[in-house]
Amino acid sequence: MTIAIAPKKLYLFHLSTAAIPLPGGQNLEMSSGCYLVETTDNKRILIDSGMAPDVPPSLAPPSNEKNVLEHLAALDVRPQDIDILICTHFDVDHAGYHNAFTNAEFIVQREHYTLARNGHPRFAAARPHWDHPALRYRLVDGDTEFLPGITLLETSGHAPGHQSVLVRLPHAGPVLLAIDAAVMQRTFTVDRKAWPTDDNEQQLRASTRKLLDLVEREQIKLVVFHHDGHQWKSLKKSPEYYE
Ligand SMILES: [Zn+2]
Repeated sequence: MTIAIAPKKLYLFHLSTAAIPLPGGQNLEMSSGCYLVETTDNKRILIDSGMAPDVPPSLAPPSNEKNVLEHLAALDVRPQDIDILICTHFDVDHAGYHNAFTNAEFIVQREHYTLARNGHPRFAAARPHWDHPALRYRLVDGDTEFLPGITLLETSGHAPGHQSVLVRLPHAGPVLLAIDAAVMQRTFTVDRKAWPTDDNEQQLRASTRKLLDLVEREQIKLVVFHHDGHQWKSLKKSPEYYE
């Protein structure tokens, strides 16, 4: 009997939390994470790898409370067991441990990779991690049905060639990992404003509209807003998983 290749489990790794003071006395609860998909043919796919360990906290708070390697170890997964690493973008809080996964094939949008490799200063802080000579990259162009049940969605705006990921699970259904196309639930609207950390407001809105349409069309019940500390409290976190 052959088993159709499909995602089997989705783990959400919660890496850090921070309360960012806002004008008016409120705090913005920021979290950070990365993700692991296990497939029916026992492939392990990591999506991002979290904050680089060598960035001074003064430059890019917060550092990982529990880093990706510790999360994997808790599941008995070694770095060399990761077959594929999907890079959403090379910001320092997303690409900080890439060089630990030397067995993996790295998947990134060509536009993003080219911009970063050409020396865009924004991606310099994590460059020793994502541009390590041992890493093998595969470049993709635009929306890509990457594996049965895993779709890469080009969502520029936060950064050129940023990608979000749709994972179709057998019981939970489709789960959209918006990553930094929608960092907070409250930014997931067509008329949203860009943040200082975003690259292009017009593209950001177009990408948001694209994801909102997808949610509607595919009846997606779970959208993970990557940095939404409030939402993360309600999510199933590793070692629990969605299936
Ligand atoms: Zn981010």
